[in-house]
Amino acid sequence: MARASDPERRLLAIYTGGTIGMRSEGGELVPGPGLATVLRRLPMFHDEHYAQACQLPEDTLALPPASPYQRVIYTVLEWQPLLDSSDMTMAEWVQIAQTIERHHEQYHGFVVIHGTDTMAFAASTLSFVLENLQKPVILTGAQVPIHALWNDGRENLLGALLMAGQYLIPEVCLFFQNQLFRGNRATKVDSRRFAAFCSPNLPPLATVGADITINWGLVRKVRRKAPLVVHSCVERDVGVLRLYPGIPASLVRAFLQPPLKGVVLETFGSGNGPTKPELLQELRAAVGRGLLILNCTHCLQGAVTSDYASGTALAGAGLLSAFDMTSEAALAKLAYVLGQPGLSLDDRKQLLAQDLRGEMTLPATERRVSLRGTSLGCQVAQFLSLSENQELGAVRDALLPSLACAAAHAGDLEVLRALADVGSDLDMEDFSGQTPLHAAARGGHARVVSMLLQRDADVNARDRDGLSPLLLATRGRHPEVIKLLRAAGACLSVQELEDVGTELCRLASRGDAEGLQAWWHAGADLRQPGYDGRHALHVAESTGNLELLELLRQFLAKASPAPQAP
Ligand code: ASP
Repeated sequence: MARASDPERRLLAIYTGGTIGMRSEGGELVPGPGLATVLRRLPMFHDEHYAQACQLPEDTLALPPASPYQRVIYTVLEWQPLLDSSDMTMAEWVQIAQTIERHHEQYHGFVVIHGTDTMAFAASTLSFVLENLQKPVILTGAQVPIHALWNDGRENLLGALLMAGQYLIPEVCLFFQNQLFRGNRATKVDSRRFAAFCSPNLPPLATVGADITINWGLVRKVRRKAPLVVHSCVERDVGVLRLYPGIPASLVRAFLQPPLKGVVLETFGSGNGPTKPELLQELRAAVGRGLLILNCTHCLQGAVTSDYASGTALAGAGLLSAFDMTSEAALAKLAYVLGQPGLSLDDRKQLLAQDLRGEMTLPATERRVSLRGTSLGCQVAQFLSLSENQELGAVRDALLPSLACAAAHAGDLEVLRALADVGSDLDMEDFSGQTPLHAAARGGHARVVSMLLQRDADVNARDRDGLSPLLLATRGRHPEVIKLLRAAGACLSVQELEDVGTELCRLASRGDAEGLQAWWHAGADLRQPGYDGRHALHVAESTGNLELLELLRQFLAKASPAPQAP
């Protein structure tokens, strides 16, 4: 059994293939066996003198001493067959995880020597399938084989062995060119330069120069009592679809067909996509069949947000935000979450919304409700309610509105009920002036909206920007919520309806019946003219969209202009 106090740090180096050990055959690089033999001959990788003095077993190598008190010794386990990582799949990565599980007690840490092409997928998958990891697992490889005179393999492998041997970083990491990245945050960005990887949305966990700097603030904490769990069951029927301007709805439909169960949709900018109704309809239909679709930006850096109507439309179609996850991590997370047996669709969606292994940065509001699925939110509510003294009372008054809004935004009825039970006012505003009703309306959570309305929430509350819950539900195209709010007396204000004519014309020009319907249900007058004096019906006529024309005519026949709030 490997103990933290051992002066000898034992590592298992699992050699799966990749350029690092490749040889040239007929001018082409192919995976090469015998890496341990090569390493044994290189003094930087093996101290023969120490090995003999300590009678190390045949298959064990010893690094020269990195510190007077510690020695890193390691065994190379060569994979059969060795692979170019382009040929690796989830099946191989699960096998690596199982190998780690088998040897978990014997070693202080693990190095996985892997091809660079799919290393970010491998690291992401390993991070999810290895739960409660208490030891380092570090993937590394090279752009140039270790046998070449000028190569990056030696430095990378030595760095990975030293990091795994000397530091307790209980995560799946990727070491390349003097940087240790969280594995599920890394992505390959260069096919030739030695700096092949970057971690666009999280700084490196460690940087190696003359000194080694570990960013301990970022390193995940060990859950000591929880044993390692290896999840061998991952869903293979997952895929990635990258949007491009003008992508036909028919292509999207063809891609989303069964047996596919989960998709990473790579979208533009902050998670935006075409608002073409046929395309949204395909997405909605797929989500309706139970397909899980993660909205992941195809930008290298940045996150999916709800800043744009074109992003909100995707959320309205049922896509889940991947925030700032890489596509590699998003795909691996889908495979892991879908592979978990016995979960309902809602359970899976909840898992996808949580930060499970440090793979994504949740926005502040979501982070507060990552308490979901535990009773912590309820406990916080109860704790705050017990605060008799003045100071704690002030803390309570500051925290409860945000907690309530976060719970409402996540559709968390349990926490809201707990807050109500301890006597909280569910109409309170958070720092941005939004009430829990705003948050629930924006999130499209009809059950929460109806609970809040039953508790007399102010249906026409305005946030700091003058927006009402009804407007947020309309923009998010949540018909059920719109109906509930309208039935409770919600009205769009003059300010909210200011440019509605232009917006309606825009929707008509795109044939967006769903968007127009949302505004109609919200009580907007569909005859409102746009900036050029035409209204939605004129625009629909000019585009020749007969279906939309018919729909608009039906609305207009029924419509008597709705009452407006001041
Ligand atoms: N094609 C190689 C592989 O991924 C590239 C590399 O290792 O860098 O195995």
